[in-house]
Amino acid sequence: MIAEIIVNSNARALNRIFDYVVPKEMEKDIFIGARIYAPFGKGSKLEDGFVIGLKEKSEFANKEIAKIIYDMSIPEEKMNLAKLMARKYFCNISDCIKLMLPPGTAGKQEAGWTKEKTGNFVCLAKDPKEIEEAINIGDIKTDKHKKVLEFLIQNDGMYLPDLESILEISTSVCKTLEKKGYIEIVQKQIERNPFINKKVEKDEPKKLNAEQKKAYNSISRAIEDNEPMRALIYGITGSGKTEIYLQLIAKALELGKTAIMLVPEISLTPQMVDGFLARFGENIAVLHSKLSAGERYDEWQRIETGKAKIVIGARSAIFAPVKNLGIIIIDEEHDMSYKSDMSPRYHAKELAKYITERARCPLVLGSATPDISTYKQGLDNDIALFTLSKRANNASLPEVQIVDLRQELANGNRSMISDVLKKEIKTNLENKKQTILFLNRRGYSTFILCRDCGEPVKCPNCSITLTYHKYENSLKCHYCGIQMPVVKKCPKCNSEKVKYFGTGTQKLEDEIAKLFPEASMIRMDTDTVTKKNSHEEILNKFRNEKIDILIGTQMVVKGHHFPKVTLVGAIAADGALNIEDYNASQKTFQTIVQVAGRAGREEEKGRVIIQTYNPDHYAIMYSAKQDYELFYNAEIGIRKMLKYPPFCDIIMIRFVGKNIEEIQDLSKKVYNNLEKLIDKKNTFVYAPVSSPVDKIKSKYRWRIILKGKLNNKLLNILYKAIDVQVKYDTSITVDINPNSMM
Ligand code: ADP
Ligand code: ZN
Ligand code: ZN
Repeated sequence: MIAEIIVNSNARALNRIFDYVVPKEMEKDIFIGARIYAPFGKGSKLEDGFVIGLKEKSEFANKEIAKIIYDMSIPEEKMNLAKLMARKYFCNISDCIKLMLPPGTAGKQEAGWTKEKTGNFVCLAKDPKEIEEAINIGDIKTDKHKKVLEFLIQNDGMYLPDLESILEISTSVCKTLEKKGYIEIVQKQIERNPFINKKVEKDEPKKLNAEQKKAYNSISRAIEDNEPMRALIYGITGSGKTEIYLQLIAKALELGKTAIMLVPEISLTPQMVDGFLARFGENIAVLHSKLSAGERYDEWQRIETGKAKIVIGARSAIFAPVKNLGIIIIDEEHDMSYKSDMSPRYHAKELAKYITERARCPLVLGSATPDISTYKQGLDNDIALFTLSKRANNASLPEVQIVDLRQELANGNRSMISDVLKKEIKTNLENKKQTILFLNRRGYSTFILCRDCGEPVKCPNCSITLTYHKYENSLKCHYCGIQMPVVKKCPKCNSEKVKYFGTGTQKLEDEIAKLFPEASMIRMDTDTVTKKNSHEEILNKFRNEKIDILIGTQMVVKGHHFPKVTLVGAIAADGALNIEDYNASQKTFQTIVQVAGRAGREEEKGRVIIQTYNPDHYAIMYSAKQDYELFYNAEIGIRKMLKYPPFCDIIMIRFVGKNIEEIQDLSKKVYNNLEKLIDKKNTFVYAPVSSPVDKIKSKYRWRIILKGKLNNKLLNILYKAIDVQVKYDTSITVDINPNSMM
């Protein structure tokens, strides 16, 4: 017997299949997905790898597999998924396999460090009532001590390192409390899920309304009947989608099955997880990138051993090792974060379809602003479409007003805040209501221009203008992250007439502070969100400490629920409209609808002000009306005309390298190959050009774009066309329907 082996390595030369003889005595034990050791290269050093196929004969096999590593294999169906991914997304099988292994174990042959560990677990040593009493009568003097005890009264207990980082205290605080007999620090087996030790009040299922029931009944029948149905639940925020998800998951559990629920990374907050904890308790595992490798490993183990039956996570949770899958739910299915923009460049939605078809269970997509392609499938009856037309708690939709910034300029207002918005903020402050201001650019000034030579000041490594950050008093490149001192002279012509233009969140913060000195505010963007949990800290602060104004980028947009927010202002709503991107209109529409959705989520009616230079653009007009169908009808017509998804796939072949001649040369070669191979009736190839951002981190970037349906035939052609010699630090990558065309 012969095994086809993939070596667990990133080296390009090893990214192929090797044939090895399976020793007779191993034949009954070997299987597809087994992790093995095999002798490799001249010295026959043992390397680890995976069996990806088995066959009877091979002309090439001359060495034998040395050993099977039993506890580190992956199931055959996952191996098949890895193979499919590698081909479809133009990447190494070993990179795909890594996504399916317990986190942290891919590179290690023996995963010793991840073996179960114990850690210092902190819990109360007395009855919570007694401790509350002690606090009330003033027995606890230090604030830090109070903070710890109050936290532990609210929560069952927590590992010491987590407690320290959440409350920002040192170990000595807990040691003192232990000595005084208030708390205990015990050795406990580590299950490092930061969400799970929390106490939340139990919550009961709601009685579904007619529209919810229709979706629930149909999908829950599919769970029962093992039917791989696909469904889209289209409903505005607050229309009760999550309630349906919760009840469908309950149904799956009732039948002894498991569930995976994907949410965008940014909305995976403790607040969101609480809703699930309240319904399902400890049955939940949470996977996301902010967990440490150890935490992720523990969650993985809880899923694999069946302790956790519900997986909630961002994109890569689609690979969670669930058994007997009953449903996959993808919330906010239009979100860009479901597509990876690093290799493997997979789309979680596409893989979810494959996985649910094999597991024979439903796939549920939910959104208030579905992806154009998904909604079309719904209208075409390729997937079941369920519409929720009203808010479940009867909150009304906000009132939206568009402000034309050109008019504002003509009236002599050069600030970032229109007169209308200024007035509304003032009213809100007077009424003690909260306001969110959204601006999708961080920093202070977004570009620096020399008024003598007209050159913007660019990053030395990237062809991108630098952004001025006032608080750090430095210039930053948002592509490569380099920080540089502020320039007073033009680096090109030495003129001193350099001027800072454009606006970011830092400048907005300054302007608001000047206009409303009495207002309290908090800013949220990637500059203020750095530490673990800090994103959540800012939101909690805004919610609990009655901060007047929250200023932020994209991060403030998603799924958060702030009952006291009655005013939302989008400072420059068209930021993304004019860039060359087939998704630009859709992104703009979705963002504005989502921002607007933050206003007036309860009794109080919300107001939304959208400031724009393009008041007549359909994405702006229809988002102001909060009318997805109008937008869909306009957008689908344009996409049909321009042959954009779903009518075609956009295939981007990227050439990246330090030597510009080489990448130009390569792109020409590939282009010539494509010209020869492509069936021009169905596929269109554009000649190679430099990318809009044509240099990042000192590497030049060229590209070829194709429009066509990505089927097997086209895949074969693409593989043939890119099969050209490349030098060591040059790369050719293929990205299907990329998130960004830059
Ligand atoms: P979505 O996920 O569409 O934004 P949710 O499911 O979170 O909406 O529902 C919004 C609010 O309405 C929540 O507070 C939820 O508990 C409540 N809700 C949902 N469905 C019902 C129902 N059938 N009856 C009463 N309240 C409901
Ligand atoms: Zn100059
Ligand atoms: Zn840069």
